[in-house]
Amino acid sequence: FNRELLDFSTEFILKNPMQIRKSLDARVAIKEPAIRVITARSGESGEAGLREALNSIQERGNGHGGDVLLIGRYRHNNPDWSSLRASYPTLNLNFMTAHSSKGREADYAIVLDVISGKYGFPSEIVDDPILNLVLSNDSAFLNAEERRLFYVAVTRAKNIAFLITHETKKSSFIEEIEGPEYEHFVSSDKMSCGAIRCSKCGGGFLIKRKAGSRSFWGCSNYPYCDAISEVCFTCKEGVMIKNNRAFICSRTACGETAPICPRCGQGMLIVKDGKYGPFLGCTNWRSKGASCKYTQKLSK
Ligand SMILES: [Zn+2]
Ligand SMILES: [Zn+2]
Ligand SMILES: [Zn+2]
Repeated sequence: FNRELLDFSTEFILKNPMQIRKSLDARVAIKEPAIRVITARSGESGEAGLREALNSIQERGNGHGGDVLLIGRYRHNNPDWSSLRASYPTLNLNFMTAHSSKGREADYAIVLDVISGKYGFPSEIVDDPILNLVLSNDSAFLNAEERRLFYVAVTRAKNIAFLITHETKKSSFIEEIEGPEYEHFVSSDKMSCGAIRCSKCGGGFLIKRKAGSRSFWGCSNYPYCDAISEVCFTCKEGVMIKNNRAFICSRTACGETAPICPRCGQGMLIVKDGKYGPFLGCTNWRSKGASCKYTQKLSK
């Protein structure tokens, strides 16, 4: 059981403004928060958020994989499995509802669709607001049953619990745990929603792959789609995405940019090491076959 998640849950479930709050400041610095919130941006689906979490888990496992429990508030949160399993062959993926996940454990938990709305998490149809008013007029006790369920879902993870939400439908639970009280437990990646759709085929998602020592972002529809994007050379995580003027890292927290190759118009100029020192070269350069040989002096 993850000690940190247990502490978080105790705080979350016992939340009561009347209670004297434990001093979180005394807590020793924690290397990595046990909870990661991934916020899908408008225009992106929850599946993109899920894929971002899976990308991150796959990378962490370094090819060794791990057990991943996907948890939904409802049965209908069960994701589309047709391409997921093929995209993440090293991960052991299973889906359960929060209710049925009680007692289960996995290396990682991903709580899907932590959003607002009738079929959100917390569910806005289960709790009876009138009953809640009778029980307590304190907002901290609203959604008591949903809070317990959320606690169950989050604590299924031995390592990290990922919570997938959407920027236009953020769950009140997410807003709450992104507050200063929980900052030691929670990291929020509003940055990327790195599960980026392949611009070539439009149907696949970019997945980090390795060929020898070289990492790159390939399409989940490979071998049907052979699209390749560069990994950001600064943060080593983001995807370098081309727009009209330059390549930009998909992680807004990073924001690295690189020029488009003026010769082929497709490749990205990167710093390479040459016999006479570093220079700028095109990523479309290949040792044989058709390639772009454009080079440029490094501007001082
Ligand atoms: Zn593609
Ligand atoms: Zn970057
Ligand atoms: Zn070029």
